[in-house]
Amino acid sequence: MGNQKAFLEIHRQEAGYRPLHDRIHDYGEVEQTLNTRERKQQASRCMDCGVPFCHWACPLGNKAPEWNDALYKGDWELAYRLLSATNPFPEFTGRICPALCEKACVLNRFNHEPTTNREDECAITEMAFAEGFIVPRTDIRRNGRTVAVVGSGPAGLAAANALNQMGYTVTVFEKNEAAGGLLRYGIPNFKLNKKIIDRRISIMEQEGIVFKYNSEFSDYSEYSAVVLATGTPTARDLKVPGRNLKGVHFALELLSQQNRVLAGMDFSKEERITAKGKDVLVIGGGDTGSDCIGTAHRQGCKSVTQIEIMPRPVEGPDDPQNPWPAWPRTLKTTSSHEEGCTRRWNINTLEFLGENGNLTGVMVQEIDWKPASSGGGRPVMVEKGEPEIIKAELVLLAMGFLKPEHPQYPANVFVCGDAANGASLVVRAIASGLQAARNVHEYLSKQ
Ligand SMILES: Cc1cc2nc3c(=O)[nH]c(=O)nc-3n(C[C@H](O)[C@H](O)[C@H](O)COP(=O)(O)OP(=O)(O)OC[C@H]3O[C@@H](n4cnc5c(N)ncnc54)[C@H](O)[C@@H]3O)c2cc1C
Ligand code: SF4
Repeated sequence: MGNQKAFLEIHRQEAGYRPLHDRIHDYGEVEQTLNTRERKQQASRCMDCGVPFCHWACPLGNKAPEWNDALYKGDWELAYRLLSATNPFPEFTGRICPALCEKACVLNRFNHEPTTNREDECAITEMAFAEGFIVPRTDIRRNGRTVAVVGSGPAGLAAANALNQMGYTVTVFEKNEAAGGLLRYGIPNFKLNKKIIDRRISIMEQEGIVFKYNSEFSDYSEYSAVVLATGTPTARDLKVPGRNLKGVHFALELLSQQNRVLAGMDFSKEERITAKGKDVLVIGGGDTGSDCIGTAHRQGCKSVTQIEIMPRPVEGPDDPQNPWPAWPRTLKTTSSHEEGCTRRWNINTLEFLGENGNLTGVMVQEIDWKPASSGGGRPVMVEKGEPEIIKAELVLLAMGFLKPEHPQYPANVFVCGDAANGASLVVRAIASGLQAARNVHEYLSKQ
């Protein structure tokens, strides 16, 4: 800890987003960066607490006090070494992690001005790439064992990378045409530029990992072990009348197609899903819904409304139900919400309405949640007022994903990431992939 009083003298400073009028017309990353002096100042605010709750809260156990100190002192190489000791892909989490660590930071408890760990992480990693600290290893000694990793999202990539570093010969099977899973085909480019994924895949390839695209895996017998990191392929549906109308889509249909268009892929007029000139209704109040809002704006929508069946979360930094250092389930306003959106809570969807097979609106109903009459159990939904119609030519269903069920696999098969735990976060997928790699190694060491 270089500057013992920094947390008293220097305020938290976020780099913030590009101005709204500038960013809304393109798919470039919305987040800006601080200059080197400001970044080091931010790193100096870390108090090197005796009990670092940030380290406890990060699923990867990232050592924020250590790398913040190295960053403050200007030793970027050491900072990257410390960071990459627990996190194989800090350039991903540095951009899109919700930063569980920052909510758990003691400074968040003290004055709601936690350290800027996530941005620090991104800055350290970008400097490490720019300065050539990250180069492919050429000294990996092979141990003669082969592992198939199925799925190339963050969980599969983390498992593949860790096993490759240990000397296993790793092949990654991916059913899509490129690697990254939801990093590439879910998260919009304005949050994560896909060149960031390509850069990391190139290093992994140079270190010996073979990626097989457009390729579903089936042969378990050929490999010493198999890691299944296939994510949560089934989105939650809304089976109300009118579901088959043209204009009702799953969020990922829009998001993945838009990311593919940006990667240069062509779609026919019939296939293309676009919000251009339309009133858009996003059903689901979470992050996927928010990504649909930002995408709809960039496609040139007329308006966006987001509805959520659950009540509006509490506002402000503290969540009485889930106090510090746990994650506060408070109202979150993203860069996409800032770009313009009507947000409503306690709204149930009754029916999709249309003309000539095309969606024209959605009948919704305001509701309330009352405690169950028995006193315990799930709250009961009660209708409030009259149903109403929200005009919409495009509906995006962003209501989460179903947790996959798995058969009993042979002992050499290990499931990780969202496929094992249900839909979650990139940082948790990476942590789960690393754990799967350790499990494979432990299993094969005994064979
Ligand atoms: C729209 C959206 C935005 C999100 N934004 C964020 C965010 O900002 N921050 C955050 O932390 N988290 C975010 N998440 C969650 C995060 O993306 C996921 O938790 C994470 O990607 C899960 O990683 P995974 O590797 O387990 O699965 P996935 O990323 O889903 O990857 C699974 C991969 O397996 C492949 N696959 C599936 N079946 C097969 C098969 N049979 N053969 C070969 N390949 C197969 C798939 O094609 C896919 O590439 C977001 C999720 C969505 C949907
Ligand atoms: S990965 Fe996320 S939770 Fe962990 S230190 Fe980085 S920003 Fe914080």
